[in-house]
Amino acid sequence: MNVAICPGSFDPITVGHMDIIRRSSALYEHVVVAVGANLKKKPRLSAEERARLIEKVTGRFANVSVEVMEGLLVNFAREQGARVVVKGLRAGSDFESEFQQAQLNRTLYPEFETVFIMAAAEHSFLSSSAVREIASYGGEVRGLVPDEIQEIVHRLYVDEQAVANDKG
Ligand code: ADP
Repeated sequence: MNVAICPGSFDPITVGHMDIIRRSSALYEHVVVAVGANLKKKPRLSAEERARLIEKVTGRFANVSVEVMEGLLVNFAREQGARVVVKGLRAGSDFESEFQQAQLNRTLYPEFETVFIMAAAEHSFLSSSAVREIASYGGEVRGLVPDEIQEIVHRLYVDEQAVANDKG
């Protein structure tokens, strides 16, 4: 089976990620969304919680599954029988680090290919960190995250202290 991995921190999943997952699911027989567990970035939610939110919004894709990923992407890919990783490319600034990661991954797993899908123009400025920033101040995340999780993101990512300070 032609399996692809869509990895990320998904803290939280955005409509930009959803677009990449949906487009990958049209290209590959199976897509595994891999939720990074060992992140230096100190995610707001645990990997299991982030995975649960992704399951909620990808349930309609029959060939998409969600897994928590511990350790290196190449090892996870081998375990899953995947030879392809699909990444979304936004502005040119994504390129440098993606290029480096792709080269390193090929050194560790020579048959492994990194495939890039260009972000939709309307998502090219969207990131999880922007969503976190907006939600932390109690701002509106409608249209930035899938509708089904809009309320929960609003609730889980709000920082009561930030809201209080903002109201001054
Ligand atoms: P990372 O920690 O690699 O930034 P993210 O969870 O932010 O992980 O993103 C996972 C993947 O989704 C990456 O390939 C990233 O380029 C892609 N991505 C993130 N936001 C968008 C977006 N708005 N449009 C398209 N792709 C995106």
